[in-house]
Order: sequence, then structure tokens, then C-alpha cells
Amino acid sequence: MPSSKILATTFDLHGVYPCPVCRFGKISHMPLMETMYCNFCQEIFTINVEQQQIKMPSRQPPLTWRWNGFNWTEAQLEGVELGWGYLLAAVAFVFFPTILIGIGAYYYPPDAHIPLSWIPYIWTVLTFLLHLAIILWIYIEIYQIPVATYLRAMVRWRSGANN
Ligand SMILES: [Zn+2]
Repeated sequence: MPSSKILATTFDLHGVYPCPVCRFGKISHMPLMETMYCNFCQEIFTINVEQQQIKMPSRQPPLTWRWNGFNWTEAQLEGVELGWGYLLAAVAFVFFPTILIGIGAYYYPPDAHIPLSWIPYIWTVLTFLLHLAIILWIYIEIYQIPVATYLRAMVRWRSGANN
């Protein structure tokens, strides 16, 4: 098999590659199995050499990464395409209620002399922060395994119980 080892490398069973999950460990082939294993976060990947892909089957739908010769591409959820529609929906979800409440607070301000007259403004800010938090939570939920696995591996590493 011809290979240009100086620059781009092809992904094969015998190489050692950076782990796409923790970005700290190295993944290498497990003997007798069609899988690779990270020496840091201990995640297991199935291999597809023809498509230069690895898949993390420990979650559903599985996350896949493609080797581009130098590095792993962005994680992709199998069968899920997070396009512009989702982004627009997320932006609308954050800003639409915030703007509605903000308009209400602006055009119908409570009498400044009554107690708690600042509540509509605080409410507007809270609406924004809460809706933003929901979007962030959904995003982390979709890609949660890399985050969770990374944190778990760091804890294990720091406590020295790596073996
Ligand atoms: Zn790893």
C-alpha cells in the first residue's frame, strides 16, 4: 500500500491516533478485534478502514469521526444533520420570548414608585438566560458523551487509579 508518511497519513489498524473523545489519550488497535481502544478515557471504537471512520457505539445514535489524514473531523451523530434550520430555531427560541417580555417591560413599565418595579427587567434577563441555558443543555445532551467521558477520565487520572 503506498503511503506518504511525511504529510497525510491514512487511517489503518496498525497506527496510533489521537483520541477524538478526550483529545488526550491515544487510540490503538485491540488485538483480535475490529476495534480500537483509548489508553486514557478507555472508550472503545469500531473501525471502518474503507471509509476512514471510527464509530463510538457506546451511545445511541453512535457518534462517528472521519480521519482526514491529519486529524479527526468534527463528531457526527449517525443519521442526524444539525443544519441551519436547527440553528435558526435555537436563536428564535432564545430571543423571541426575551423580546416579547422586553417589549412588555419597555412599553408598560410599572410605576417606578411601587416596590419591586424592577421585576419586569430582571424577568427579561432571566428569560434570556434560562432559554439560553436550555439550548446549551440540549447541545451538551446531544454531544454529552465526549464531555462526560472527558470529565470522568480526568477524575480517574487525578485520583491515580488509572489501572
Ligand atoms: Zn480518549
